[in-house]
Amino acid sequence: MNASAGHHARFGIDPTTMVYASGIRKSYGNLDVLKGVDLVVPTGSVACIIGPSGSGKSTFLRCINHLEEINGGLMLVDGDFVGYRLERDRLYELPPAAICERRADIGMVFQQFNLFPHMTVLENLVEAPVRVRGEPVKDATARALVLLERVGLAEKRAAYPRQLSGGQQQRVAIARALAMNPKVLLFDEPTSALDPELVGEVLEVMKDLALGGITMVVVTHEIGFAREVADQLVFMDGGVVVEAGDPVEITTNPRSPRTREFLARVL
Ligand code: ADP
Ligand code: MG
Repeated sequence: MNASAGHHARFGIDPTTMVYASGIRKSYGNLDVLKGVDLVVPTGSVACIIGPSGSGKSTFLRCINHLEEINGGLMLVDGDFVGYRLERDRLYELPPAAICERRADIGMVFQQFNLFPHMTVLENLVEAPVRVRGEPVKDATARALVLLERVGLAEKRAAYPRQLSGGQQQRVAIARALAMNPKVLLFDEPTSALDPELVGEVLEVMKDLALGGITMVVVTHEIGFAREVADQLVFMDGGVVVEAGDPVEITTNPRSPRTREFLARVL
């Protein structure tokens, strides 16, 4: 069964689209945080989101992941509904079980790593595939070891998170997200909590994943990474996308004064 194609077709969306967000609105009480955000991420591409603190970047990522319920707009991941809420209260809602399944397909990497502190590196990777997906421990362990190899940490498999540097912990967190074979990986400022000398090793892993064809949405202040790796750069401010397009074009020749001012501060 391929439900995805159905929903893509229903909304006239290119079937190679992984993340489709249109007119996404999100409010907390009276505070309108997202005021109609649009983003289209083709499968296998990388979108970087930049913007000042408080502009709604994390909230938007959380909406993609269904950690937040949207108040308006249409959000599809691989053609499946994450949320769909039209103006005037016409609402499409998913049964909770369907949402849960969907979230398992979307990997998220946080600024603060969020590893399970009482588990070894290997246990951190094996936990979700076994518990959520019901995979045999043997299979999950074998794949976890391959992933640890991929992020250069196979020799740390028996270590606990507290015994690792921040950069190593974040590489484990990335491997843990990959262990669920996600359709898309979301990163929320993955290097912002790291000492400067540890940023590079995490960006290298992310670059490797991008080259490997994983679809990624990355909130970051690393403009160099965005220029080198991203297929599109999105500048958010005040709950809207102010400017989006080619990363080199936007960073060298921003059209909006708001983008220009922001870049002048971070570059
Ligand atoms: P960014 O990631 O761009 O810094 P956020 O998405 O974290 O921005 O926050 C955008 C705005 O939404 C901020 O004003 C923040 O205080 C507010 N906000 C975020 N989460 C919540 C919440 N759970 N309840 C109330 N306000 C929130
Ligand atoms: Mg944030």
